[in-house]
Amino acid sequence: MAEPNEALPSPLTDAHGRTVRYLRISVTDRCNLCCRYCRDDSVPFIPHENILRFEEIEQIIEAAIELGVHKLRFTGGEPFARKGFLDFLIKIHRRFPQVALKLTSNGTLLAPALETLRDIGVSVNLSLDSLDREKYAAITGKDMLPVVLDNMHRMLDLGIPLKINAVAMRGINDNELPALAAMAMDWPVDVRFIEFMPMGDSTIWSNNLFWPAADILEEARRHWTLEPVALRRKDGQENEGQAAEERGPAKLWKLKDEKGRVSKGSFGLITSVTQSFCQSCNRLRLTAEGNLRTCLFDDREYPIRDVMRKKGMDEVKRIMIDAVARKPVGAEILAASHGPVAHKRMSAIGG
Ligand code: SAM
Repeated sequence: MAEPNEALPSPLTDAHGRTVRYLRISVTDRCNLCCRYCRDDSVPFIPHENILRFEEIEQIIEAAIELGVHKLRFTGGEPFARKGFLDFLIKIHRRFPQVALKLTSNGTLLAPALETLRDIGVSVNLSLDSLDREKYAAITGKDMLPVVLDNMHRMLDLGIPLKINAVAMRGINDNELPALAAMAMDWPVDVRFIEFMPMGDSTIWSNNLFWPAADILEEARRHWTLEPVALRRKDGQENEGQAAEERGPAKLWKLKDEKGRVSKGSFGLITSVTQSFCQSCNRLRLTAEGNLRTCLFDDREYPIRDVMRKKGMDEVKRIMIDAVARKPVGAEILAASHGPVAHKRMSAIGG
C-alpha cells in the first residue's frame, strides 16, 4: 500500500481548511467500569452482532490510511474488555507499521498486555480521576485503584509513553489536584485535567460539578510555579498548529516546587468547554457499531457498516470524504446548546 504524501492536498479536508489525519476507533462500547461522568449502567450495551468485526475495522483503517490518516487511537468502552483486542492490535501494527498507535484505557485489564504494548510501540492514555481508593470506587463503581496503580508503575518501568487523564469535577476530585499533579513531579508523565463535558443524557454532569480550566490553573498555581512548555516543532521552530498535532489538544506546563525542583513530566489542561481547540481539530471517529462521527459534540453520524457489507470500500471512502467535508465546529454547537450537547454518551462514541 502506498504511503500518503502529506505534501499533496488531502481528500480528508473540510470546509474550514482542517485536514483529518487522526482516526479514533471505539472497538466496543462495553466497559468493566461504570464511571458516573461517562455512563450509567441502566443503558444497555450495543448487541454484539451490531458491533463491527475486527476484520471490518481493519478494512476501514486501510481506507482511512489511504486517505491520509497516520495516527490511530483505540478506545471505547474499554478496549481490553473486547476479547481478541490485543491480537487485533498486533495485526494492525504488523500491517501498518508506519502508523502511530495509541490507546485510551482505564488501566484495569492491561496487565497481560503490557510487554506487547511496549514491543509494538503503543502509547497509552490512562484514565485516573482519583488517588483515593474509596472515591475511585465511588466514581467508577469498582474498587480497582490498586490494580490501576500497579499497571501504571509497570508501564513506567517498561518505558511505555504514558499520559494520565483526570476528568475535573468540582466537589469530587478538586481537592486531589496536588496529589494527581504531583505524579508529574516524580515521573515522565503528562497529567492532564479534562474539563467535564456535558455529554450524554444520563451522566452526573451538572453546572455545579463543572470546574473550569481557569480555576484549575489558579489552584495549581497555589502549589507550584508553572512554566509553559514551549510549542516547538521537530525542526526547532515554534508552531502552534504542528505542536497541537503532535501532542493533542492539551496546554502543558512544567511544575516547579519551592525548592526549585522541576517536574519530570508536565501538568496539562484540556479545555474542551471553555476554550475550544476546534481550529486545529484533525480527528474523525469510528463508533463501535460502525458509524463515522466527525465531532464529539455533533450527534450527526454516517453509518458505514452496512455500506461496506453491501457496496464495498470505494463507497465507504466516498462517505468518509463527504463526512469530513461537513465536519462542523464543535464550539459553535456547544455555544448554541442548553443542557447536554450530545445525546449519545461518551462510552458509546469512544471518548
Ligand atoms: N475506558 C477507557 C478509559 O477509561 O479511558 C476509554 C473510554 S473513556 C470514554 C475515554 C475518555 O473519555 C476517558 O479519558 C474519560 O475520562 C473521558 N470522558 C468520558 N466522559 C467524559 C466527560 N463527560 N467529560 C470529559 N471527559 C470524559
